[in-house]
Amino acid sequence: MRLLPIIGLEIHAQLKTESKMFCSCANVGDAATAPNTSICPVCTGQPGSLPTLNQKALELGVLTGLALGCEIPAQSVFDRKNYFYPDLPKGYQISQFHLPVALRGKLEIDVPGGKPPREHVAIGITRAHLEEDAAKNFHSGGEESATLVDYNRSSTPLIEIVTEPDLRSPAEAKALLQELRAVLRTIHASDADMEKGQMRCDANVSLLPVDEENHPLQPNLNPKVEIKNLNSFRSVERALAYEIERQTKLMEAGDVVQGATRGWDEDKGATFEQRTKETSADYRYFPEPDLPPQDLTVLREELKARLPELPAQKRARLMDEWWFTPADAAFFVSNDGWADYAENVMGELGNWIADTDKSHDSAGEVLADNKKKLAKLAGGWLTSKLAGLMAETNLTISDLKISAEDFAEFLNLIYKGEINSSNAQKLLALMVETGTDPSHLMEEHNLGQNLDESVLIETIKRLVEQNPDQVAQIKAGKLGVIKWFVGAVMKATEGKANPSQAEEMVKKEIGV
Ligand code: ZN
Ligand code: MN
Repeated sequence: MRLLPIIGLEIHAQLKTESKMFCSCANVGDAATAPNTSICPVCTGQPGSLPTLNQKALELGVLTGLALGCEIPAQSVFDRKNYFYPDLPKGYQISQFHLPVALRGKLEIDVPGGKPPREHVAIGITRAHLEEDAAKNFHSGGEESATLVDYNRSSTPLIEIVTEPDLRSPAEAKALLQELRAVLRTIHASDADMEKGQMRCDANVSLLPVDEENHPLQPNLNPKVEIKNLNSFRSVERALAYEIERQTKLMEAGDVVQGATRGWDEDKGATFEQRTKETSADYRYFPEPDLPPQDLTVLREELKARLPELPAQKRARLMDEWWFTPADAAFFVSNDGWADYAENVMGELGNWIADTDKSHDSAGEVLADNKKKLAKLAGGWLTSKLAGLMAETNLTISDLKISAEDFAEFLNLIYKGEINSSNAQKLLALMVETGTDPSHLMEEHNLGQNLDESVLIETIKRLVEQNPDQVAQIKAGKLGVIKWFVGAVMKATEGKANPSQAEEMVKKEIGV
């Protein structure tokens, strides 16, 4: 018997609005603001206070629905979800139940090398609804232990996104969350930083007995176990892997897995039993009498027209138009501001090459082979070297002092062999630091391969004279040894020689 994981996610993301969901308090989220300073009678649930809907939150909710390919109903309604907990001052959460802002969408994900092998899959989105966040409890330790509540987070606007149980592995779950984060950032709905609590995930999983072709051996899914409050990509992946293993052992021993809610202990790396799960009946949902139903017919058309290019479309275009690899395209799209920068660099680089190179067809287009070479060069220097240097100094792309034009000029120096790779790294570090243009810096710091030809000839002559054994090997046909000479020349000239020029001159000197 094979057991196939059936995984679904419920994701809460804090919406990026100026004010809270139903009052004018500043939406400070989890920012380091003194406790209980961004609160008012509405978001602390004082009797007689009334909610007013934040129009921006409604817009971002509908926009999220559109970005996830959802249907936007003509009308959406808020409901009260009743439960008692100190972080919920009203005794109910204003949420949406029967008529959410979005229904029936999908999000496509790439999972290269995943198991089961499904490289590209569309994950169904059941719904997305708006609701308010709860306050935050702090449990103080010590002798007089107490629970303290900070209401700053109370009534922060949230979008809750529920997926179909279409995911089949922890890696797919992680990919879905990363893609969702990219979408939310692209439409400026949320920064969706899991480490900052801006995006939180509940994951549910059950195991389905299947045959060799993954056909179910039973008509219904087993009861699901829900793991609550996962707050990093890593814990989502680990918690699901743990739970799949736990359920597998139970089922292989002939036990029945009960539906349950479990928590995740990051330190122990294990899930633990929490409480029996509420059903929706326990929440006694009913329409929120203090908020009118929302007509979405105009808003959905307006927002549809304003929907920006989404991550999947952008990745496809970066690969198609600029020949970036899938990995580089994924990096640019998932890191804010990088896609624009990379595109600007490629545009500028095209100009540099066009001015000086014959690698174009009659229409002035860069030829395919060169396009590939340039994309590989640019992709590598941007995603690993530049991104690495910036990470070391905590810079974001908006702090970067290097203009796209200067970065293109820098790449052009490498492409033309005017600087070797180790000096190029030094040059790049100087550019990051100063924002000065590369040609100036290269000259100022003497990093170029601007060696006087007579010095190069002299160096080669000397090395040939000093290494008769290697010369004999080359003359006997071991041409690989030529590279050894080139290495020796580079070392002797402190990287200032041009390797291909040096190779030609070594051959000429030895006479091969
Ligand atoms: Zn308030
Ligand atoms: Mn919720």
